Amino acid sequence: MDETQPQSIGELIRRTLAVGEKSSAAQLAGYQRSQLEHLLRFAHARAPYYKQRLAPLFGKGGGIDWSQWPRIPILTRADVKANGPEMMSGGTPDGHGFARSVASSGTTGMPVTVHSTDLMSVAGALAFERACRWYGYQNGDRICVALNTPQIESLNRETWAVGDEVTGGLTGNLSAHRLGVSRSWPPEIILSHMKQHVSVCFSGNSTTVEDVAEAQLQRDLDIQIKFMVGKSMALTERARTLVRRAFKSKAYSVYSSMEAHKIAHECPVSGGFHVNSELVVVEIVDDAGRPCTGGETGRVIVTPLLGTAQPLIRYEQGDLAAWGKPCSCGRPHPVIARIEGRIRNRFQFAGGHKFIPAIGFEPYRDLLKADQWQVAQTGPLAIEVRFISAAPDDAIDFAGLTRVLAKSFHKDLSVSYRRMDMLPRTAAGKFIDYVNEFDARSDILPN
Ligand SMILES: [Zn+2]
Repeated sequence: MDETQPQSIGELIRRTLAVGEKSSAAQLAGYQRSQLEHLLRFAHARAPYYKQRLAPLFGKGGGIDWSQWPRIPILTRADVKANGPEMMSGGTPDGHGFARSVASSGTTGMPVTVHSTDLMSVAGALAFERACRWYGYQNGDRICVALNTPQIESLNRETWAVGDEVTGGLTGNLSAHRLGVSRSWPPEIILSHMKQHVSVCFSGNSTTVEDVAEAQLQRDLDIQIKFMVGKSMALTERARTLVRRAFKSKAYSVYSSMEAHKIAHECPVSGGFHVNSELVVVEIVDDAGRPCTGGETGRVIVTPLLGTAQPLIRYEQGDLAAWGKPCSCGRPHPVIARIEGRIRNRFQFAGGHKFIPAIGFEPYRDLLKADQWQVAQTGPLAIEVRFISAAPDDAIDFAGLTRVLAKSFHKDLSVSYRRMDMLPRTAAGKFIDYVNEFDARSDILPN
């Protein structure tokens, strides 16, 4: 081990991640438990919500009674919505940076706001960089990252140059060699920037990975790509095949969320997902809250270890997953065999092509005042918006949301609204935020 003092907490995390992958499974589990203990003590002492909730863990003598851990109630999105301010710690430890609010609707259609820290972003980026090294990334490689930040949208896609988009902060080598592009640009434009600036890796939404690979198959630019990484939804078989054919390279998936950042990365050897145990505790439990074993599918429960602004202790992520066997690659991190996260159907309206709807959850939260929502295509030019909301009709901007939807999907779109007490799920219990009930053959993208 390197004995020199790390320069910063970010550098410390980089080293921790490097040591982590060379550890034994037992050493890694021991490290994780020590980090969890820090977080539990901090949350118990600082966040009012956890004072009673975590009390069973703190026995006589000052130690932690780990036998009580499975009895700590699972934290739902509804809990966070109702009690978010009580979960705040009122200040983060030195080096964790500022608390920033991030909002997501996750895979359940229920928008929720949580507070993250700068350090969580840095650690997530470093874990991503570690996974990129598994896929062949080397120092100096330039990685093209497709973003949708206001900063990137303000750039002119013709005159833009490398470096324009780089934001500050310590995120390791990878950010220093980042080529930021907008994911709203046509895939041919993204490809030509990658060729011009010799970018040999790509990271973006899984649908963008698919579109860029498809564009390359049509254009056949002289371009070398080591690997592509798809996030947000799982890569489809079609996307993986397109990347293989277009670039003679491979595409990998990330399992991440706004609340827990980078949870797990696909293993290039087995195709399973290695949990970033240094950063997050992942549990998979059945409906009764018991740990799942032997490939049984259950609910994913996460505890982000660096979540000091607003600790999320045993938070239900909203995905279903199953554990896999230890991996032959030798990495000690537990393996998730499969993740059934976001499912979203493609829509297709009269005269248009098939597309995956993605307009964010903000219009539903802000205009519809929805606690939960689902959009169904019900005809060639018709959708139905189903929603749960405590707001009365006269507090809801139906016309405003209809305008947003028509602008995004089709100018002649007919939109109807239906209040519900519960939103429909699939036979397997999964929630689909955009569901195509008009064309049952529409592609389903399992995650
Ligand atoms: Zn592996």
